[in-house]
Amino acid sequence: MNPEEPESFTEEENKITLKLRFLQDEITCPHCNTHGGKLKQNRPILIRDLSVFGKIVYLNTPRRQFYCQHCQRHFTEKLPFVDWERRYTQRYEEWVFWV
Ligand SMILES: [Zn+2]
Repeated sequence: MNPEEPESFTEEENKITLKLRFLQDEITCPHCNTHGGKLKQNRPILIRDLSVFGKIVYLNTPRRQFYCQHCQRHFTEKLPFVDWERRYTQRYEEWVFWV
């Protein structure tokens, strides 16, 4: 299952930016496992992905913060394909490692 899908992309001379959106506005809280965390804010960041046809690809990725009404805590959504600290995808990381 793949909840995120490209919403749009812009192509420049040597750079492609894919804008991702998410289909659900409620996710499961990692603290108490209750489904129904409410979206509080979204601060998209650019994440470097693999190059395609010699162009650098960036993912404009929503970084969403939620609030859980059940345990009253905030949490940030984790995306399995992104290393938030280093700001590129794990796909890219594997590729760099093997070159
Ligand atoms: Zn909770």
